[in-house]
Amino acid sequence: MPTLKIKNLSKTYANGVQALKNVSLDIPTGMFGLLGPNGAGKSTLMRILATLQEADQGQVTFDKLNVLTQKMELRKRLGYLPQSFGVYPKITAETLLNHLAVLKGLTKKSERKEVVAALLHKTNLYADRQKNLGGYSGGMKQRFGIAQALLTNPKLLIVDEPTAGLDPTERNRFYNILSELAENTVVILSTHIVEDVKELCTNMAIINKGEVLMQGNPRHAIEELSGKIYQRTIRKSELADYKKNYRVIADKLLLGEPIIHILSETDPGDGFSRVTAGLEDVYFAHIW
Ligand code: ADP
Ligand code: MG
Repeated sequence: MPTLKIKNLSKTYANGVQALKNVSLDIPTGMFGLLGPNGAGKSTLMRILATLQEADQGQVTFDKLNVLTQKMELRKRLGYLPQSFGVYPKITAETLLNHLAVLKGLTKKSERKEVVAALLHKTNLYADRQKNLGGYSGGMKQRFGIAQALLTNPKLLIVDEPTAGLDPTERNRFYNILSELAENTVVILSTHIVEDVKELCTNMAIINKGEVLMQGNPRHAIEELSGKIYQRTIRKSELADYKKNYRVIADKLLLGEPIIHILSETDPGDGFSRVTAGLEDVYFAHIW
């Protein structure tokens, strides 16, 4: 099974923003979640992996390919769904997919017809194949995006924030398609939604400000925090004090009152009660 290996990858934009700082990741076959807030560098990393942007330094290999130099070879094995995927509104899904298939070198008509139909089935769009893309919902557009990314039968599939803006049903349907693909493909999914990673990914990394803060298995990461997360409700005015005295990793509102989560090796008393750690705690323990 192929593995994607990223070593010391760095990228600084012309305006001086250092979007990636010495990023190193090992990404095996299966679903890999790249989790980070807006501006973390996720899209930059994905565009470099998709051979659409140059890195300043570092190495990337996929199997025996040098991703940074053997671009044409990599592209034959790559499927990519960018963060904003535009579609022509006035043509049907079937027509556009057929056109894209021609562009990707599927020149034999009968073969192309079969591939297009199979992908429309796989992404649950077959019944809507003759509708104009302009009338598609967000979820349908994203599934169409996956269908086009799969035209080349990729071994490396990169999807950038694919679930942003999808409702829960659409998200689930999308997850199911990705999980099936991940059985024999390296699938890299970027997201700022912790839930996406929790439900889908066997491996993950958290990045912020261009740096990898952790990588590993989501379940193990949760286990490491087990027994160390405490919570309590406080008054809004007390938040600053609590932040001084404890390692506050999250605050959210419950019925208008802030609930804080803290990371503590021992029982802090003080009205706190221990709670089961979740992936959200892992995320905030690293980001804060
Ligand atoms: P993410 O996808 O995690 O939101 P990006 O990779 O889009 O992060 O951006 C990382 C950082 O690089 C941000 O500070 C962003 O403003 C900056 N950036 C992204 N693209 C460009 C660009 N083309 N030119 C200059 N700065 C950019
Ligand atoms: Mg992005």
